Amino acid sequence: MNLTDIELRNFRNYEQVKLDFDPGVNLIVGDNAQGKTNLLEAISYLGSGKSFRAMKTSEMVRFGADFADIEGNVFAQERNQRLRWVLFNGSRPRQIWRNGAKKKTAGDIAGVLPTVLFCPEDLMVLKTGAAQRRRLGDHALCQLRPNYDAALTEYNRILDQKSRILKDHFDNPAILEILPEYNTRLCQVGALLISYRARFYKSLGESAAKFHGQFSGGAEDFSLEYKTVSTVTDPFAPVSTLTQDLLDHLQRHYRAEIETAQCLTGPHKDDFDVSLSGINLKSYGSQGQTRTAAISLKLAQRELMGREMGEEPVLLLDDVLSELDPGRQDFVLNQIVSGQVFITCCEPGRFTKLGKTIEISKGNVKG
Ligand code: ATP
Ligand code: MG
Repeated sequence: MNLTDIELRNFRNYEQVKLDFDPGVNLIVGDNAQGKTNLLEAISYLGSGKSFRAMKTSEMVRFGADFADIEGNVFAQERNQRLRWVLFNGSRPRQIWRNGAKKKTAGDIAGVLPTVLFCPEDLMVLKTGAAQRRRLGDHALCQLRPNYDAALTEYNRILDQKSRILKDHFDNPAILEILPEYNTRLCQVGALLISYRARFYKSLGESAAKFHGQFSGGAEDFSLEYKTVSTVTDPFAPVSTLTQDLLDHLQRHYRAEIETAQCLTGPHKDDFDVSLSGINLKSYGSQGQTRTAAISLKLAQRELMGREMGEEPVLLLDDVLSELDPGRQDFVLNQIVSGQVFITCCEPGRFTKLGKTIEISKGNVKG
């Protein structure tokens, strides 16, 4: 599977540009703030309908423009497919097109252009906040399982409504009557999330352990542990059992949630831990160990998605190679011999001979 070309109109700092890509390595070169990461964002959005950096869709619309248009041809599932997103500046919902037909949700284009992004912040993801780790897992799972994507959207919607109820109850105590209904629904959908996550993290951990083993010459034993709500004793249990576990936990925190006006418990607080030979990386890992483990995790994500989807996802390496020492650079480069890769960097240096070079300057292609 590979992206053959992309056309951007009013996306971020691109007014209008059309780019053709190599099915192998594409090196995106340019000075700071020219639009390299914006291009990777457009590619990732084209395939998933999710941005790895924007909080709001309208951020991606070029300043002063009414809408942004991302269009690209993908060779996937043994045929050419055309994807298109139109994003509006105001509250108007975004539009999705696949092969000229309008689609309703990102789930309708799932599997056509899966991507894995790797950026410098990811190198420290095993040390920093749980939110980044959840984001990493969610991004992969949403692409792998459209039903997970739908469940996550629903979970966040109910969570928002519940937060509003908790905040409003000081002025309007009667509103608490509807809280149990929201809690039940939240636990039902939350149980689904846990069920998907348990399976995903198990496979991700196994694959990452293999990469880490190769990397460390078998010196360190990589293991990943999925962490969820404490009443869940077995995250692989049937969804009905998980729902009950979550309800039990919510029940125990019922008063505390009302008093603090916050949704204190649930899979929105999930996390995972990585240990090397039994030693927790978050607390004790060195910089080098943390980076190597993060690389293993990313390579595992790509392998897992490729295996499950039958197509190798496009790898987006944003500034990450230049952050690594030569040994780690080589390890990453040796693992990406197949599939399509986009690599951004300011100084092409030793990477120029890898494949096609595209030079970006002020939202335009140079030369
Ligand atoms: P670096 O090497 O520093 O990472 P980069 O080439 O990756 O740089 P980008 O992050 O792609 O740079 O951003 C390029 C420019 O895009 C920034 O100067 C930013 O101000 C601009 N930009 C971001 N969003 C918009 C928007 N909605 N409209 C117009 N310009 C935007
Ligand atoms: Mg950048």
